[in-house]
Amino acid sequence: MSDDPRRHLPSVDRVVRGLAEADPALPEWVRLEAARWAIARARTRISQGNPAGDVTGSALATARELSAPSPRGVVNATGVVLHTNLGRSVLSSEAADHAGQRSAGYSDLEFDLATGQRGSRLDRVETLLKVLSGAPAGLAVNNNAAALLLALAGLARGREVIVSRGELVEIGGSFRVPDIMEQAGVRLVEVGTTNRTHARDYEDAIGADTGVLLKVHRSNFSQSGFVTEVGLPELVEIGRAHGIPVVDDLGSGSLLDLRPNGLPEDTFVPARLASGVDVLCFSGDKLLGGPQAGLLLGSADAIGRLRKHPLARALRMDKLSLAALDRTLRHLADGDADAIPTVRQLREPADAVHARAKRLEERLRKVLPGGFSVSLVETRAPVGGGSVPGFTLASFAVALEGAGSADRVAAALRAAPTPVIARVESGRVLLDAKTLLEGDDARIEEAVRALSLD
Ligand SMILES: *Cc1c(COP(=O)(O)O)cnc(C)c1O
Repeated sequence: MSDDPRRHLPSVDRVVRGLAEADPALPEWVRLEAARWAIARARTRISQGNPAGDVTGSALATARELSAPSPRGVVNATGVVLHTNLGRSVLSSEAADHAGQRSAGYSDLEFDLATGQRGSRLDRVETLLKVLSGAPAGLAVNNNAAALLLALAGLARGREVIVSRGELVEIGGSFRVPDIMEQAGVRLVEVGTTNRTHARDYEDAIGADTGVLLKVHRSNFSQSGFVTEVGLPELVEIGRAHGIPVVDDLGSGSLLDLRPNGLPEDTFVPARLASGVDVLCFSGDKLLGGPQAGLLLGSADAIGRLRKHPLARALRMDKLSLAALDRTLRHLADGDADAIPTVRQLREPADAVHARAKRLEERLRKVLPGGFSVSLVETRAPVGGGSVPGFTLASFAVALEGAGSADRVAAALRAAPTPVIARVESGRVLLDAKTLLEGDDARIEEAVRALSLD
């Protein structure tokens, strides 16, 4: 016991002093926190039978990470346009600047300049939503999970909500339709089977206590084969016949018609609203290309009830996101949609992506460390973000190959001053040009220059 290696670990004081010597600019709180963290990590390593490792070295790496504001910028070279782990959609510079400026000072967020009285924070965004979608009424909340929670609680609390078994989905781990229903205080009534649900299944389940018929988009998987589902227009007809509101959780929707760009029929919100659905909800930071938000569109009656619900206040949008949403919607209303990087990526033809990949390939070829090679490859870029399952966009990537495993090369790219997140496919590192933004070429070059063979 006497030579328990944990006893030989340096003290917090010693590591803190080591950090101060290595980098005098590190703030005191960073040194202390990093030292504690590195010692705790060394302890865990020892208890798992591993050597303690270089405690001061790992404290320094942690300290550098802690002293940079979070989140850090990265290069998305995965080709996944809506990558939830990398922040989903990319705002236009106008939307980002507008949010920054309005939050670095006072604004008329909830103030009516004409009367000098209190105003509504949502009026202007609601007008834009109505103009763009043709819906009689609109509302915006914090995110789409919140939008669905509000729609169910507001229209069916204490009552039954009927949903197809094929639509009881989980999206990204923390969003499960049955859990949201429980939190909304509604009783879930499942109908049909995993692969087939018919109109009569809904009809048979409707009773005196039915509050809502719910449709949920299968955002992250698709079904094929022996499959039947009840489409939104038919579900709305059933709802009408029984006087029961229909809610459509579309998840990812666009107010711009992306169907000519090959995106599926059900992504275009105005076309779905034409069914007469009572409430439709979708995310602000998926295909729309805006900030995190949950957008609710529908009848004046249903949306009016949701607006007055106490949960609407708890789930309201903050001023930064609201400013960014307003500016994003204005791009769409002004016919300037390509100012939104996410929209531009979704619509960009393959030859433009090819040209970008080619430029990157030529640039990297000039700076490649010995032992590495690059080539241009055709790829399919997934839209991602729990939005359009199975749907990919034509793209091109620079494939980077070298001695050693692709996973290690990918890890080295992530360790660059601006981390580069690549995709590893069939033993190669792919730098997909679909999702590269202005200035990313230089960042990738810096990361690639620093690669070494060991
Ligand atoms: C993405 C998604 C959600 C969750 O939306 P957030 O904006 O991430 O809260 C809910 N439902 C569906 C169908 C989705 O695709």
